[in-house]
Amino acid sequence: MVVEICSVSGYSDFGKNMTAVKVGNEVILLDMGLHIENYINYTEDEDFVKVKADELIEENAAPNISFIDDWKELVKGIIISHVHLDHVGAVPYLAGRFDAPVICTPFTSEVIKNILQSEKIKMPNKVEVVQVNGKKDIGKIKVELLNMTHSTPETTAIVLHTPDGPIVYMTDFKLDATPTLGKKSNLKRLEELGKQGVLALIIDSTNAQDEGKTPSESVAKEMLRDVMASIRGKNNGIIATTFSSHLARLKSILEEGIKMNRKVMFLGRSMSRYINAGESCGIIKFTDKAKVFRYASQIENALKKVAREGKEKYLLVVSGHQAEPESTLSKIVGGSLKYKLDPRDYVIFSCRVIPAPTNRANREHMEKILKKQGVHVFKDIHQSGHGASEDIMEIIDIVKPKHIIPAHGKLSMRAALAEIARERGYDSANVHLVSDGERLEIE
Ligand SMILES: [Zn+2]
Repeated sequence: MVVEICSVSGYSDFGKNMTAVKVGNEVILLDMGLHIENYINYTEDEDFVKVKADELIEENAAPNISFIDDWKELVKGIIISHVHLDHVGAVPYLAGRFDAPVICTPFTSEVIKNILQSEKIKMPNKVEVVQVNGKKDIGKIKVELLNMTHSTPETTAIVLHTPDGPIVYMTDFKLDATPTLGKKSNLKRLEELGKQGVLALIIDSTNAQDEGKTPSESVAKEMLRDVMASIRGKNNGIIATTFSSHLARLKSILEEGIKMNRKVMFLGRSMSRYINAGESCGIIKFTDKAKVFRYASQIENALKKVAREGKEKYLLVVSGHQAEPESTLSKIVGGSLKYKLDPRDYVIFSCRVIPAPTNRANREHMEKILKKQGVHVFKDIHQSGHGASEDIMEIIDIVKPKHIIPAHGKLSMRAALAEIARERGYDSANVHLVSDGERLEIE
């Protein structure tokens, strides 16, 4: 049976990931993400009233689903690999165009519910939950969601069992042998599938140009510990920022704050969204040790309390690691939130700058202001969530797919992954560098 894969989006540029797989007369959609930079630019437009799906597509902020117009009636399920917005963010706006359920793990489901609620969006699709490493039949296709380590909990590789062998969709993963939250990647099951004969592997090429192995999250934890140890005992304010969905990192920051005898406060809407979702699913328990403030008025009151009691008693964990203009950190640095930064203070960026022009410009601007105020800045206290060349090789060797389709990023990154495949003995006819909207027939 011919299996068709349409690389709808995320194959010509970073972001707005979406892939469609047609097996017989059934289609499964894999991920439905946003292009974050374009989405922010669109929603910042002065005329912006309400997000419209067609405008999101026009502005290159959401996948162009017209590439699969002729498959629309065949769609049986929309499976989401993990909670990052470049994989799930377009679900509230586009899923309703398909008469099919959204299928994901409990953590992703909680975040989807939270987004729908806070954005006041009514989504007609049912959300069906599959546990990590669980299975489900969607139409005639058997599906598995295998645990993978990444930079947010419950990241999965999606396996679609076709009559010609499984297709493994593994976008966004690293191979972390010592994760600080959650289980290791399910290499055991991948190995079993590899022995059965995998038809195709769609795989993340984000860090394919980086040689070696991506260090574990426990290394990032050590980096954080090192920085915190150097500040310990000092009479200063500390603000840390990282990806709100990176619960493992937030946990490490919280633990360090407690060790320093500081009260920990998480401030910001996105912080609260992911912490709530993590607690509802039993992944973390933060609120018995720290306070979480979501809304502007709550944050203002919390900062007043910090000013009253002394900022040296607190560790603030805030949104705004990319210096996004509306974030809590930007408001603190810009002075619209009352927290007087002074030369005794520390700001810790437990992240990297996502290489988009807006992010770079925003961060440069923020760092300039912090420098002017004499604030100490620690940058790049971070390890990536994406596997490098050795991790990719390991996956290829384990999964042994017949076809390899690099996903994510510029052509140079996908070409680097194709080169790794060639080094592992693959013929270029079986390694497919596809662009957005292309269709590939494999058998
Ligand atoms: Zn991700």
